[in-house]
Amino acid sequence: MALFERKDKYIRINPNRSSRQIKRHEMPEVPDDLFAKCPSCKHMIYQKDLGLAKICPRCSYNFRISAKERLHLIVDEASFEEMFTGFETKDPLKFPHYKEKLEQVRTSTGLDEAVLTGIAEIKSQKVALAIMDSHFIMASMGTIVGEKMTRLFEYATKEHLPVVVFTASGGARMQEGIMSLMQMAKVSGAVKRHSNAGLFYLTVLTDPTTGGVTASFAMQGDIIIAEPQALVGFAGRRVIESTVRETLPDDFQKAEFLLEHGFIDSIVKRTELREVIAKLIMFHGGIT
Ligand SMILES: [Zn+2]
Repeated sequence: MALFERKDKYIRINPNRSSRQIKRHEMPEVPDDLFAKCPSCKHMIYQKDLGLAKICPRCSYNFRISAKERLHLIVDEASFEEMFTGFETKDPLKFPHYKEKLEQVRTSTGLDEAVLTGIAEIKSQKVALAIMDSHFIMASMGTIVGEKMTRLFEYATKEHLPVVVFTASGGARMQEGIMSLMQMAKVSGAVKRHSNAGLFYLTVLTDPTTGGVTASFAMQGDIIIAEPQALVGFAGRRVIESTVRETLPDDFQKAEFLLEHGFIDSIVKRTELREVIAKLIMFHGGIT
């Protein structure tokens, strides 16, 4: 029976006291970042089991990853050169606590804004690259995100480079009001000029891609691919349900639903993305 007895080395509390008597600091602690809850299957996953690609081993959900983690997975080592940095985000509405929020997320993410832009090589093919990061105010599109995207496309047009964009966004940045919405047209204009020059544009939709980003450059790629189970939509589910007064299917706005309805071209596993992107760039006249 000794097999079933609690051992002090596992739980360091006095077995003669009831749980109410146990002081908070005596409770066994689990570090916050040891486990992650899968948003899709709701299981608790040991962080190390997610691997570098951060994929749920139970249901294959692709966890949200940072722009820097994405760089490691996609581009050739040390090939990324960041461009279009140093812009100061304005606060045109004097939105309460916006400046403080920006400072805070700059520190926590190490990014200057919600999109990382620059040039890189993917299997030795040079591309203009943008990666949005949902950890930065839900990768909402404000004036600086729009400006960086526009400059990236203009640079790619001038240098005859293909553009690869990893989208993720909660939509336009409400703290910048109408100035955010203007970015949709501004970036779209630059995308069109890049397209008119006969150059290739690939979008990879990651979880979540919504709002003004979906309604502009996310859906303007020559080829649009998505990660498994990524949420992609314009308005939120609840808004649509209350407008049309209907219950929507469970997989509504998921990548698989969009593929079935012809909105995207393909769903590609995160672990295969680098290979697929490299092939697509090569097929469409990549530059080495
Ligand atoms: Zn899962």
